[in-house]
Amino acid sequence: MQHVPQAARAREGVVEKGMVRVTNRAGNSPFLFVCDHASNYLPPDLGTLGLRDADMLRHIAWDPGALPVALKMADMLDAALVEAGISRLAIDCNRPLDAPDLIPEISETTLIPGNAALTDSDRARRVALSWRPFHDTIEALVEERLAAGRETWLVSIHSFTPLYKGAARPWEIGILHDEDERLSAPLIAALRSSGRFDVGDNQPYSPADRVYFTLERHARSRGLPCAMIEIRNDEIADGGGQARWAELLAGLFREIRLPEAAATASRPAPKTPSAS
Ligand SMILES: [Zn+2]
Repeated sequence: MQHVPQAARAREGVVEKGMVRVTNRAGNSPFLFVCDHASNYLPPDLGTLGLRDADMLRHIAWDPGALPVALKMADMLDAALVEAGISRLAIDCNRPLDAPDLIPEISETTLIPGNAALTDSDRARRVALSWRPFHDTIEALVEERLAAGRETWLVSIHSFTPLYKGAARPWEIGILHDEDERLSAPLIAALRSSGRFDVGDNQPYSPADRVYFTLERHARSRGLPCAMIEIRNDEIADGGGQARWAELLAGLFREIRLPEAAATASRPAPKTPSAS
């Protein structure tokens, strides 16, 4: 695990972290996990953005429960995990730089006073603070793996709120994907075959909502298999729920087999055994 400088003191309930953390960098699995909304931490120089402490515990600031699930899955599968260490309210790493909600002035129905009327240099500082290091870290790790001939299947792990703008969301889990369904199709089929869950196929969001950015940037651009997992956050609000979902998903991930051509696309040609 890469060393991360700890912030001086965070407020109660707010994760003490900053920057980007890579766990199990050399993990042997083809899966590479990313957690864009892992943290609700705000660096001291951003103050509170005008929000109450209670707001920083809500889904508007991060994806509650997503990081513990991702860490457990990384451990169970011996996979690497990259997590952003700063709240999405400072800057959303899962958005392109030209997205209107990159630095949201409103999230769901909550105004973010500290994000209003930012100057270009304020915005550039936010990019340098979190967005750039997060994407540079993933970029370097993916390149390193491909250079070593390692299969790399990128999966981002998120959570969503049960109620959004007054509407209840019935799905316990959603799998998001674009036209490349190599990972999403077997996952959705396996989850549905258990008969235990209402599984969202591109619900509660889809790539059309511009929430697929990290995977587009690092996986789709290279033809690597990818999918986005969204777990409803009441399912993973405590250690028990987090462990149940991590175990379930890790079990399904272990069973995923890609078509041979796809699985070997990023490998160098196999060495021919010496003729005997
Ligand atoms: Zn998220």
